[in-house]
Amino acid sequence: MKRSLIRYVLDRGDYGTEVRIAGWVRTRRDSKGGFSFIEVNDGSVFSGIQVIADGELPNYETEIRALSIGSAIAVDGILVESPGAGQKVEVRATAVRVYGYSDPDLYPLQKKRMSFEKLRDVAHLRPRTNTFGAVARVRNALAYATHRFYQERDFLYLNTPMITASDAEGAGEMFQVTTLDVAAPPRRDGAVDYTQDFFGKPTYLTVSGQLEAEAYASALDRVYTFGPTFRAENSNTRRHLAEFWMIEPEMAFADLADNAELAEDYVRYLFRYVLENCPDDLAFFDKWVEEGLLARLESIASSDFRRITYTEAVALLEQADVGFEFPVRWGTDLQSEHERYLTEVAFSQPLIVTDYPAEIKAFYMRRNDDGRTVAAMDVLLPGVGEIIGGSQREERLDVLLDGIRRKGLPEDAYWWYLDLRRFGSVPHAGFGLGLERVVQFTTGMQNIRDVIPFPRTPNSAEF
Ligand code: ATP
Ligand code: MN
Repeated sequence: MKRSLIRYVLDRGDYGTEVRIAGWVRTRRDSKGGFSFIEVNDGSVFSGIQVIADGELPNYETEIRALSIGSAIAVDGILVESPGAGQKVEVRATAVRVYGYSDPDLYPLQKKRMSFEKLRDVAHLRPRTNTFGAVARVRNALAYATHRFYQERDFLYLNTPMITASDAEGAGEMFQVTTLDVAAPPRRDGAVDYTQDFFGKPTYLTVSGQLEAEAYASALDRVYTFGPTFRAENSNTRRHLAEFWMIEPEMAFADLADNAELAEDYVRYLFRYVLENCPDDLAFFDKWVEEGLLARLESIASSDFRRITYTEAVALLEQADVGFEFPVRWGTDLQSEHERYLTEVAFSQPLIVTDYPAEIKAFYMRRNDDGRTVAAMDVLLPGVGEIIGGSQREERLDVLLDGIRRKGLPEDAYWWYLDLRRFGSVPHAGFGLGLERVVQFTTGMQNIRDVIPFPRTPNSAEF
């Protein structure tokens, strides 16, 4: 017999059919009548399935009664109507095969609820819990929806390099990649001699695939990247990881308004997709993790994103009757507390804030006619703050060169990026969305460490 995922067995649910399922035991309860209830889960669906193992089974006393939380089994049986509440079907076992026992005294997961913090110490086992199974399924749905969204709109999926010699943001915060002996690197004139390093110069893990994506958008019109991104920012917040996954679309012949429209369509598409495809998981999060989550997702999936300029935002913040930790005035970057005030208190709807001061933004953003702002945009959502950062890119060679010099960046390193402005330069725009921030928002999970399988944060790279 072919094995079925529990999800299909539950979906079809025709009584009387023979099935084979397999998975990990959640609970075993022995009844006085000489049989046992075993709840089995294979991660394909939120709820597992209940198995009734009769005392007559040949291995009942020897094996089945030794099963405990975490054991792995396969079950052949007949699908029958379940008398219990909350489930339509259960499996009456005709054979139970044990793959692996799990010593209940040593198994780190217990039936009672454990804190998310404790579960981080057993990140290799936490996918077996309800919460982390659900997070993994929602994350998967968001990744799939991302590809669908861009493919439906003729964006080409592009793989940009993870090892880079240029600092895309010009902001530092990069992990160095080297094969030199860090304890005793070769030196020339006192400094480390990088000509002897693997690539003949210093290299880093990428903070963004944008610059390379611009090269492909300048030939193929619409592209998107979806890959791991690394930032050595030593900020122990609940929204920052050292390694995260970013989706970066880039469009030729597009301006900031087109960019904002794409961002809004994309975010709404993501929410609609999970609402349609992960109802059980979302219902769980709504009940146990964040009350009102479903209503909030539904409202955002159908609401317009409001657009305001940075200058308007600062004016609002200055008038706000709130004691912010970081003071605001025109020219300072918006902190998380400001972003959240804007999108939660001032408007209580998603916001797209545009046209930030050039001083606080990257060199590649297109300078506005006012001379002091650039065509940047951030998308802010209630609860998480920023989930998208993007801009129209500077397509004018002289203005771009001026920006590079003003930021004190090495002009030579950007020779190929400047070439894109020398040969057939066009207005173009794009943005970066952090997948984990969206998973946080759609699940209500407070800490970003709990929405990626194996988080990388300062002082933590176990597993
Ligand atoms: P923030 O202000 O939140 O640190 P940023 O301005 O550094 O973000 P961008 O450089 O615009 O972010 O990156 C684009 C998107 O990537 C962000 O909107 C966010 O969703 C995500 N992102 C950025 N840094 C991180 C990080 N350290 N961990 C997880 N996601 C991140
Ligand atoms: Mn940042």
